Amino acid sequence: AVNRVPLLAGNWKMNLDHLQAIAFVQKLAWTLKDASHDFDAAEVAVFPPFTDLRSVQTLVAADKLSIAFGAQDLSMHDSGAYTGEISGAFLAQLDCTYVIIGHSERRTLHAEDDTVVAAKTAAAVKHGLVPVVCVGETAEDLEKHGPSAVPVAQLRTALEGLDAGADIVVAYEPVWAIGSGQAATPDQAEQVAAALRDVVREILGDEAATRTRILYGGSVKSSNIAGFMREPNVDGALIGGASLDVNEFSSIVRFQK
Ligand code: PEP
Repeated sequence: AVNRVPLLAGNWKMNLDHLQAIAFVQKLAWTLKDASHDFDAAEVAVFPPFTDLRSVQTLVAADKLSIAFGAQDLSMHDSGAYTGEISGAFLAQLDCTYVIIGHSERRTLHAEDDTVVAAKTAAAVKHGLVPVVCVGETAEDLEKHGPSAVPVAQLRTALEGLDAGADIVVAYEPVWAIGSGQAATPDQAEQVAAALRDVVREILGDEAATRTRILYGGSVKSSNIAGFMREPNVDGALIGGASLDVNEFSSIVRFQK
């Protein structure tokens, strides 16, 4: 929306190994170059599995690509006896710009609660990464509490303790819309995004509220992206399934055209 560069972000989840990642990013770069995509007008980011990041870093650096990338999670700790965990320091060394935090699959399958999400958000900022903080209500939450209450409470806890200058992205992802083919309406997304912007304002202040990008995620595809992008408080999208097809993802990225 106004004065904020939209971010179109592909969350690959546990798909595409490091060889497939190289082929994908090369093809994405060629497709967007062919289409004369203006990266200053709409930023593009991919979130591959950890094991792909070194390959993506090497390709992006060698070909001077404007495609940003990040990880899908990080540890709340800096280093030490945490078998299987990945430090934000390591991700920063690999030139990750972003890291997704609190995706609903992490919350559900790995029991990450709001306190864990807050600790990971702080760790990301500490290491110079931009956290993409995911919040969203389940179908049951929606029925019991309406659309905004749960995401607003989740975001409040996640942002508590951050400095006003912290560079963050918020992703509103209603759990019922993720991977279901049943996206929220642009109106629904706007209503919650506006409430989330109020939380950013309340905790981090006016300047942060004006600058922070709030994405919508949940069954976004090339045929529905434009509707979301017309909403004043929606500044891009986090895309799962549809980000795995280069042509479909490129069409989403070029939503204006
Ligand atoms: C996601 O998992 O972040 C997501 C939005 O998935 P999908 O686009 O497949 O609904």
